[in-house]
Amino acid sequence: MTAKTPAVLILLGPPGAGKGTQARMLEEKYGLVQLSTGDMLRAAVAAGTDAGKAAKAVMEAGNLVSDEIVINILRDRLTQDDCRKGVILDGFPRTTVQAEALDTLLAESGQKINAAVSLEVEDAAMVTRISGRYTCGTCGEGYHDTFKQPAKDGVCDKCGGTEFKRRADDNAETVASRLEAYHAQTAPLIAYYKGKGRLECIDAMGDIDAIAANLNAIVDKATA
Ligand code: AMP
Repeated sequence: MTAKTPAVLILLGPPGAGKGTQARMLEEKYGLVQLSTGDMLRAAVAAGTDAGKAAKAVMEAGNLVSDEIVINILRDRLTQDDCRKGVILDGFPRTTVQAEALDTLLAESGQKINAAVSLEVEDAAMVTRISGRYTCGTCGEGYHDTFKQPAKDGVCDKCGGTEFKRRADDNAETVASRLEAYHAQTAPLIAYYKGKGRLECIDAMGDIDAIAANLNAIVDKATA
């Protein structure tokens, strides 16, 4: 029996579309690994690495970090053993240069993209979604002031943690720049993946579990 090639799924969508939430749900259901370049960059900023120093101000302004930095970070991460379980790319690629670099990286290891799923949302709703969100400082579970509070006030449903954090760039001004960057630089990837016959689109304005069910159906089909 030949080993199955690890699955590669891409989640596309503007900030606030729910990529992180859905990626975490897919990670749990399918045993795939969530690769968030935003998380990797925040870790680099916190650790004060050269990449982190270069990225900090750019991220605070809501702009995109250079392709070179992000591609290097992702390349290193993809070579780690756990990625053999298959990956969900959350927030990468964000430019055509990154998409082409990903194709090359995957081709080197005989892999391919199973599906690029575009989470379709309305910009107007994103500012509210983003401004109210926060995560558990221990396990990273996501919450929202209005849409998803912990069952017990101040205690994470998942791990019982009591420390929560908010991202520095989750404020109204930065969100506007992030949405602009999405439309100018990332939205063209929808056509890129459509051209490759890999694009799937889902309405991501509704209930988290309903979106997850639609996404699961796509993943089942794309990895069959
Ligand atoms: P995210 O957590 O995906 O919303 O990303 C937060 C910030 O990190 C973005 O606003 C960008 O400044 C930076 N970033 C994350 N992923 C990328 C990427 N693939 N290319 C360029 N910048 C990125």
